[in-house]
Amino acid sequence: MSVFEHVAFDNHERVLFATDDKTGLKAIIGVHSTASGPACGGCRMWTYDDSNAALTDVLRLSQGMSYKNIMADLPIGGGKSVIMKPEGHFDRVALFEAFGRAVESLNGMYITAEDVGVSPDDMMYARRSTAHVVGLPEGKAASGDPSPVTAEGVFRGMKVCVERGLGKSDLSGVKVAIQGAAGHVGAYLAGHLAEAGAELFITDINEAGLQDLKAKHGATIVGLDEIYGLDVDVFAPCALGAVINPDTIDVIRAKVIAGAANNQLASREMGAELQRRGKIYAPDYVLNAGGIINVVGEIQGSYEPEWVRSKLVGLENTLGEILDMSDKEGRPSNLIADEIARTRIEDKKSVKETEIA
Ligand code: NAD
Repeated sequence: MSVFEHVAFDNHERVLFATDDKTGLKAIIGVHSTASGPACGGCRMWTYDDSNAALTDVLRLSQGMSYKNIMADLPIGGGKSVIMKPEGHFDRVALFEAFGRAVESLNGMYITAEDVGVSPDDMMYARRSTAHVVGLPEGKAASGDPSPVTAEGVFRGMKVCVERGLGKSDLSGVKVAIQGAAGHVGAYLAGHLAEAGAELFITDINEAGLQDLKAKHGATIVGLDEIYGLDVDVFAPCALGAVINPDTIDVIRAKVIAGAANNQLASREMGAELQRRGKIYAPDYVLNAGGIINVVGEIQGSYEPEWVRSKLVGLENTLGEILDMSDKEGRPSNLIADEIARTRIEDKKSVKETEIA
């Protein structure tokens, strides 16, 4: 396993490998940047093929959180953690208590939360060993489910894209295809869109959830693969990553791609391919920052809905600037977003270094 030479290492400030014999814990915590504040990002528990796969995942995710957090201008840096899921039966409570001890050993440099495979209850167990946990279901500043705020950010950003792509200032009559419509974010997004008068086409593996949305909003249910080739204005990926890939890129007819899913592009080159095809792509980590914006209220110790709203307006403005630059310079929006994120992180680092000196 190479670490410093790893393609995704990208000057991580700290990478902690944590093990605990008693509980079977094998975890990696990636702290990509603390230039703007403590590194914040969720903990994912997954069955990885080996520790290389876990390392690759944590490094990519941790860098992604840095980019997301800096683009939303939040007072936090970027980090992430992964736990290699133990085989067979294991004591979940003890495992997360041990994970909490690993987080605590970083003295607040990293703040954890739940991610794929980890529940709010798991985080309550981790909380027994460390205070550096957010996204808790209860407590003074608990911010609760971040999905409604993520959905609101996606909705606002989608309007920005539609204005530029279709020349329409509202979403009435705009046809939107939502992948993962029955999920946490997808369902809230469907609600906003229906209220705005959009025509909805939905797919999911959760049939009951789809029927519910159909009854509520009169949405049209379509097949899992059918969603890509629909004659719609907007495609909103809200389920899986890597859905913009060589197999789907020529099938997608929507002018605008704007959804909540992380890592929608199978590779960075897909951004250029979308642009070549005249599409407007909203960089995922810019558009889906509502959830982390929501969580920051909890880190700050008081939850202020007005502050959250102002950050969502900031998200719209940032997205608008990226799309304008993309249009003016003829360069893909994903690369422009990456460049802005990297520059902002470097600027913050310089300021921090000057302060220390
Ligand atoms: P979720 O698990 O609640 O929803 C995902 C939905 O996708 C589920 O309804 C699932 O049945 C459906 N799905 C799974 N496989 C599918 C397939 N092959 N085709 C169609 N649908 C399928 O997750 P979520 O919290 O709503 O998050 C959705 C996406 O947004 C994820 O990629 C997540 O990482 C990202 N995201 C979520 C938040 C948040 O606040 N929840 C914040 C940022 C990013």
